[in-house]
Amino acid sequence: MINKINDYLSDNPCILLLTHTNPDGDAIGSMLGLYHYFIRHGFKTYAITPNNFPSFLQWLPGADEIVRYSREKERAAVMIKEADVIFNLDFNDPERLGKMSELITASNAIKILIDHHPNPKKFNHIEISETSVSSTAELIYLLLTQLNIKPFLTREVAESLYTGIMTDTGCFSYNSSFGQTFRVTADLLESGIDKERIFDLVYNNFSEERMRLAGFALNKKMVVLKKYHTAYIWFTKKELEQFNHTLGDTEGFVNMPLSIHGIRFSALFIEKTDHVKISFRSKGSFPANLFAERHFHGGGHQNAAGGESPATLDETLQRFEALLTDYEDQLSLP
Ligand code: 5GP
Ligand code: MN
Repeated sequence: MINKINDYLSDNPCILLLTHTNPDGDAIGSMLGLYHYFIRHGFKTYAITPNNFPSFLQWLPGADEIVRYSREKERAAVMIKEADVIFNLDFNDPERLGKMSELITASNAIKILIDHHPNPKKFNHIEISETSVSSTAELIYLLLTQLNIKPFLTREVAESLYTGIMTDTGCFSYNSSFGQTFRVTADLLESGIDKERIFDLVYNNFSEERMRLAGFALNKKMVVLKKYHTAYIWFTKKELEQFNHTLGDTEGFVNMPLSIHGIRFSALFIEKTDHVKISFRSKGSFPANLFAERHFHGGGHQNAAGGESPATLDETLQRFEALLTDYEDQLSLP
């Protein structure tokens, strides 16, 4: 696969980098890591996300160069037409591209997947898919060490990839049990990046309202179902508006209930205009991704997944609680 990618790159292709809807730190970090590598070596390179991403990722070098399909459909369509090679980053199903998916499926470009989600759909010519790595960013680091075009590690590449690994491991608390993640991280640190600065820009950059929303969530909006080792938080659209909610403000909330002793499964329900967006997190053996896939048109990793519900918020919460009864035994396992 590496040889093939080296061959494709030797033709000086126009490169397009893509990632999933509601991009997270790994999605944007992976995209910008590759972006800076290709730009530095003279490739014509475009980067498109299906929609916008939170301000705590917008400080990353090159973030301004990313085209949001939701805002600039025509410009994005021209870029997609021009692309010879497409890198699909951090997602396993073209549906994760949202409204862009048809354009990408129809494109004749060579498609290369770099991802760490299980069971990728067949939509790429080359599939670099490895669930044991911490993040797509880690996989990109390993790929770059093997590509012919050198050097690869600039400060911009290292800051981007470090952000991807840091965010997808919850600052090295999960998805990071293999030494390789730390060896890659050590290389990134030795390239001279300032990890305290990156931590600060990602995690200590919230508005006052976001902190108060977190207080409201824990105090008033968290439901704990001890019997099912489950807890969830839910917000109506109106509540989020009352706290002047901006994109990314609820990031991380879904992890909070897992700090409660005995809680192994948590969910966050957010009311949107025509659906409810749901995030799931679990600890240990409970497969959040299978639960999301089976019941909420979603997917993801074993311990971190998401999905959505077309029903009202109330109906969705009732359905979720009812579903838990079928999982009581599984949820009681460590
Ligand atoms: P988050 O809860 O942070 O939005 O997403 C957690 C994980 O679940 C990510 O790995 C993401 O790829 C996956 N995920 C989130 N939402 C969806 C969705 O609607 N569909 C699928 N297939 N995966 C999702
Ligand atoms: Mn990821």
